[in-house]
Amino acid sequence: MKALSTSFKYLAALLLVVFIIGCMDSKKPDTKDKLDIKINPSELKTDIPYIDAHNHLFGGKDGRGFYEAATHAVTIMDELNIKKMIIMPPPQAQGFGNRGTFFDLFPAVQRYPGRFACLGGGGSLNIMIHQNKHRKVFNRPEKNRFRQKAELFLSKGAVGFGEFTGVHFSFANDHPFHSVSADHPLFLFLADIAADHNVPIDIHNEAVLQDMAFPSSKKLERSRRNPSLLLENMAGFENLLKHNRKAKIIWAHSGWCNTGDRTAELSRTLLSKNPNLYMSIKLRPGIAKENKMLNLRKRIIPPQWLALLQDFPDRFIIGTDQFYSAPGGKQLRPQTNAVTQLFMNTLPPDLAKKIGMENPSKLFNFQGVC
Ligand SMILES: [Zn+2]
Repeated sequence: MKALSTSFKYLAALLLVVFIIGCMDSKKPDTKDKLDIKINPSELKTDIPYIDAHNHLFGGKDGRGFYEAATHAVTIMDELNIKKMIIMPPPQAQGFGNRGTFFDLFPAVQRYPGRFACLGGGGSLNIMIHQNKHRKVFNRPEKNRFRQKAELFLSKGAVGFGEFTGVHFSFANDHPFHSVSADHPLFLFLADIAADHNVPIDIHNEAVLQDMAFPSSKKLERSRRNPSLLLENMAGFENLLKHNRKAKIIWAHSGWCNTGDRTAELSRTLLSKNPNLYMSIKLRPGIAKENKMLNLRKRIIPPQWLALLQDFPDRFIIGTDQFYSAPGGKQLRPQTNAVTQLFMNTLPPDLAKKIGMENPSKLFNFQGVC
């Protein structure tokens, strides 16, 4: 009898595990999505100007290609009517080499006055935050050093801080996984510095509403750096938003979701509660394709996203997140300029004007751009 009840317990435990895995599986995002729909050039009008507010330059392994990469970017900008492009160092981690800091990028883009602006911090301050991710207290000299570094970027011409990372997935072994809470003391301090200077912070942070198994997808399996479990991170993100309402926070990559949680509904809740929150739109398919902002098959912006853009017309900008390399150089990722053009063409004209030009001009304090 005892043996029977023990095996019943084992069976019940096994069923529970199967049930939990099943629940995780139902959350598992679709992996089949690809940028596989052709866009006919005749569908694209290029008379809608926009500012592309989140991009990177790839300088090659020796870092000497930033000038040519900037020249290449200008050629594309002229083709597509991109009036201005914001370039920032990608969010970096120790041990992955230098992928470019503000001081590598800025001289390259200065050759084209008025066409580019730069953010600083992704190649230095972001590394400092992640190296100290478990520390809760920083003394005055440490904070002074952090502030000096941040303010140096601004004094040399940066228009804000980026790209920073809370949770960032690794898509290849040479691409780091990052995880730090967005209310880390140095992020809160950075928000104060940004508020003092009226400049924005650009932060990449995958949305995780509750602890979950790491999403499974072929793209993510290319890397062995990702963990098996993701911890809830939206409470920390809200703490950052609340900390200093004068700090303008750009949550990068709206419409590119890799957890299933960055929905129009979550975006609506956060935008309603946080007047200092902005979002930059990225149209590359994420792992969770249900949260894309453009339905390529139907050529429409899904109704929940369109309603969100219409209800918060001042809070969105374009940020395609492309890496520009020298012409003929290695392309790091699929290019999404055609999709972005289609998105601009699909937006109602008043929204296209705001999202394309007016919002980024205000956010980054550009004079006379629109
Ligand atoms: Zn990013």
